[in-house]
Amino acid sequence: MDPSSALTSVLRVDVARRFAGGFRLSAVMDVELRPGSMLVLFGPSGAGKTTILRQLAGLERPDAGTIRLDDEVWCDVTASVWRPPQARHIGLVFQEPTLFPHLTVRDNIGYGVRHGSDRGRTGVGPGSDPVEEIATMLGVKDLANRHPRELSGGEAQRVALARALVPGPRLLLLDEPFGALDMPTRARLRRDVRGLLHRTGTPAILVTHDRTEALEMGDAVVVMIGGRVRQTGPISDVFSHPADVDVAASLGVEAVVPARVLTSSGGLLEVAVGSAGRDVVLQVAERDALAPGADVYACIRAEDVTLGMQLSTHASARNHLEARVVSINAEGPVDRVSLDCGFPLDALITRRSREELNLTPGSQVTAAIKATNVHLVPRI
Ligand code: ATP
Repeated sequence: MDPSSALTSVLRVDVARRFAGGFRLSAVMDVELRPGSMLVLFGPSGAGKTTILRQLAGLERPDAGTIRLDDEVWCDVTASVWRPPQARHIGLVFQEPTLFPHLTVRDNIGYGVRHGSDRGRTGVGPGSDPVEEIATMLGVKDLANRHPRELSGGEAQRVALARALVPGPRLLLLDEPFGALDMPTRARLRRDVRGLLHRTGTPAILVTHDRTEALEMGDAVVVMIGGRVRQTGPISDVFSHPADVDVAASLGVEAVVPARVLTSSGGLLEVAVGSAGRDVVLQVAERDALAPGADVYACIRAEDVTLGMQLSTHASARNHLEARVVSINAEGPVDRVSLDCGFPLDALITRRSREELNLTPGSQVTAAIKATNVHLVPRI
């Protein structure tokens, strides 16, 4: 399929569910799903992410509410409308690959096209064998004659992904599919899945509580806490402007700003941070090989930012940024100082330091950050 020919879908969810144990889900979201894009359903453990995904998949019914994709009503409890899973044309992949043990890899991957797919949107070019083509894209073609017991965890998950994609689903639902894999396997598979979605134009919803995974893979994010949707938006907007302290806490305490690698030499990277025209250049210790031009997020913890009045302070830090104090808020025994350095940045300082520096909103300061304290997450 030519990804450019696919249209943006709109998913509208307004559901409620109450479990016997007392958990209450009351979730409203209204999101666009662009072809090939990834929406991340993010939140702490027990937030209700999997429950929502299962309702989207048609594996579970809400007590009340509606689920709509474009003009299709998947569920409307009041009107007694219920579209079964096979009529929703979604692909589903869980943390543990659920393959048929008695079938070969080839037959596992082809299962969906032989059993019930009527969409004919295989995601591959005309005349191609979708099973072969998707298996090749996911690097499991050579495993075609094996059985699931003969596969590693990463290989099995690739087969599960291939099986979900071969029928050409209009939406792929992923419930922590990388969670059980070791780090290198996880990193490779994340990259391959991202590429595959772009190539086939399939939009996906990914459940995760891993912020690195969310940043690496997501275009947009829905933050869930305690059974409710607390914030929705483009991933960099939500990470850089959490709606409230609960959302900020669930996302982590770091500033997350879009950046681009400029140069790489001698174990040090230079990255440009901030909006065009106001770029600030940061020096960053190189942990992973990143080529000039690579798009990344620069993550900086507030406790790693030191404030001073002159450029010479904290000479050991590589980065000394001119900053303006935007606001100061007490956070327990310390103060959180929000700065404008050409990009938004927070610093945590003791009250005594704040008094010594005589900081007030509008003060000009120098923010010092060590090159080893800037963490880069590549965009894939
Ligand atoms: P995690 O990241 O740990 O997977 P989650 O955000 O996906 O968490 P859910 O799995 O949706 O959370 O669970 C939300 C809450 O609903 C939890 O408290 C869970 O124990 C409860 N829950 C989920 N399914 C059921 C069920 N069938 N019966 C009773 N309680 C349930």
